[in-house]
Amino acid sequence: MKKPIVVIDGPSGAGKSTVGKLLAKDIGYLYIDTGAMYRAIGLKAVREGLQLKESDALRGLCARTEVRLVQDSGGFKVYLDDEDVSEAIRTPEMGMAASAVSAQPCVRERLLQLQRNLGEGGGVVLEGRDIGTVVFPEAEVKFYLDANVEERARRRWKEFREKGIETDLRKTIEEVSKRDYDDSHREIAPLKRAADAVVVDSSGLSINEVVALMKEKVLEVAGN
Ligand code: C5P
Repeated sequence: MKKPIVVIDGPSGAGKSTVGKLLAKDIGYLYIDTGAMYRAIGLKAVREGLQLKESDALRGLCARTEVRLVQDSGGFKVYLDDEDVSEAIRTPEMGMAASAVSAQPCVRERLLQLQRNLGEGGGVVLEGRDIGTVVFPEAEVKFYLDANVEERARRRWKEFREKGIETDLRKTIEEVSKRDYDDSHREIAPLKRAADAVVVDSSGLSINEVVALMKEKVLEVAGN
């Protein structure tokens, strides 16, 4: 039997990456962070000084850019063409750049195909914003992971500080709120809960509790 496609959608800072990685490792599935792909394109567009909106220049960039996620023992690395950009994409600026380029049709078309190719065989955990609604509407297991905005911003802020990136909490709350708004109001593939997604609010739960809850659901569907 084909293993299920597992989807985790939800807003920034809800814990998708943390729980997605742990869940995938625990059940032996491949983990695919689609936000990392948008961040890599955003990084290249910023480096090339492009305006982050649909244009010949951005379309050209998409056509000549390769983004790869390579699994390794510690998780995965993100390659932009042949450069390892795993660290460079994890800044507040790249979060905003990713959000801007992700609203542009040429970028979404390019990454949609890549994501479908990676996930179609099953046995994968994909996380993002539109995976259960657009990329794999037929996925067997869908989660929508959420938490209140203050808690999500606090988590992001802590992550930045641990990496030595100084930002103030108020600014992080503003950025997370803006990304929530932009991601859910854009025309193509907005952040939206799929009607058949299981909603998990991680506000009052530990990481392990969320992973356990998801694992139970996946195993139930996978039939073991
Ligand atoms: O999840 P992460 O914060 O890394 O995503 C960065 C940005 O990429 C999001 O704010 C969103 O605009 C965009 N994104 C998207 N569709 C996805 C994954 C991410 O539009 N499937």
